Amino acid sequence: MRNPNAGQRLLSQRVRDIPSSTIRGAMKLAADATACGDVVNLAQGLSGFPTPQAFKDEAIAAIAANRNQYCDTFGHPLLRQAIAKKYQRSGLPVDWETEVTVTCGVSEGINLALLTVVNPGDEVIMFEPFYENHRPNILIAGGVPKFVQLRKPDWTFDRSELARAFNKRTKAIIINNPNNPTSRVFTLDELQFIASLCQKWGTLAICDEIYEHMVWDGRRHVMFSTLPGMEERTFTCSGLSKTYNVTGWRVGWVIAPAVYTEALRRVHDYLTLSAPTPFQYAGICALESPPQFYDDLVSEHTALRDRLAGHLQAAGFNFLLPQGSYFFFADCSPFGFEDDRQLAQYFAEVLKVIAVPGSAFYQPGQNTNLVRFCFAKPLEMLDLAGERLLALASRVKN
Ligand code: GLN
Repeated sequence: MRNPNAGQRLLSQRVRDIPSSTIRGAMKLAADATACGDVVNLAQGLSGFPTPQAFKDEAIAAIAANRNQYCDTFGHPLLRQAIAKKYQRSGLPVDWETEVTVTCGVSEGINLALLTVVNPGDEVIMFEPFYENHRPNILIAGGVPKFVQLRKPDWTFDRSELARAFNKRTKAIIINNPNNPTSRVFTLDELQFIASLCQKWGTLAICDEIYEHMVWDGRRHVMFSTLPGMEERTFTCSGLSKTYNVTGWRVGWVIAPAVYTEALRRVHDYLTLSAPTPFQYAGICALESPPQFYDDLVSEHTALRDRLAGHLQAAGFNFLLPQGSYFFFADCSPFGFEDDRQLAQYFAEVLKVIAVPGSAFYQPGQNTNLVRFCFAKPLEMLDLAGERLLALASRVKN
């Protein structure tokens, strides 16, 4: 019989260092729990609402018109122009020919940025908790992650801790703003402080701004590259996925100065060649959405956030009311569980609610007492989750 582990010793060190995704694990929990009854799945960050019809029609029309072959490797020129226009509207002049690359989602974009600039042993600063992908992304590029804590309850960072993390080996810092999982929207003052350290140490900024339009309560998302001196040292990564509710289309982009873009495009060419062609056509239409589209996005999501906030509060969770993105990162300490994986298991099997255990967003081996819920779901779903989570209230020790 074949030994299933025989190939283990041939695996690269790079791959051995990368854990499997906890978010994916939560989706498996959801699938298993669904087999034994109805579950409310608030785990993976994706909307429970249909994609706007106009975007779907564009994609279907592109396929019907035989736009099914490789696209321009760097992105369809009309899409790159639409992306450049979008940034120009926000006060950032962007040259679509030399500074925009269309990628397979932000996931590819962050990998590309890191592969373009990180040499083995270079340090890359990231805030912890962090979006699950970013640590493996650094490891794949051969970099060394350096962690700076975002602390409960308001998920801010200590400025001297951040300043101490920079040194002459620091090649880049990853800034995910609005932040997944904490839902923080960094203030102008915080971003200016980060920018001043980037200037001081000659550090590049790799910015994941995928939730840029998901900012609540009148807050403003500040594009990091618009800060003085940052345009020339920033990779701005964003995409269609969250704003236009098309996470499966895999269309994102990277904006970077021409010298970095030229190099990054070579990596992109050999890695994925191009993002899916019909969805790039649909993206041109999505990027032309009127201001009302973005206003509706905010008002609709704010209502959903507030509904789940009420339920979580009633059940006894402690949390920061989300400032941006569509996540609650909630503290479960009052409920007396040993660790967050046990907690997520209990949620799935007993309460039939699926959430992501907080340790997904920390270095391996940590235990957090936190869970992440996605609130971009229909009200009935949030109400059902609320009803089920209310059972936790009886576990709270006074
Ligand atoms: N960005 C989404 C999330 O945070 C999807 C991530 C994933 O599937 N790895 O849930």
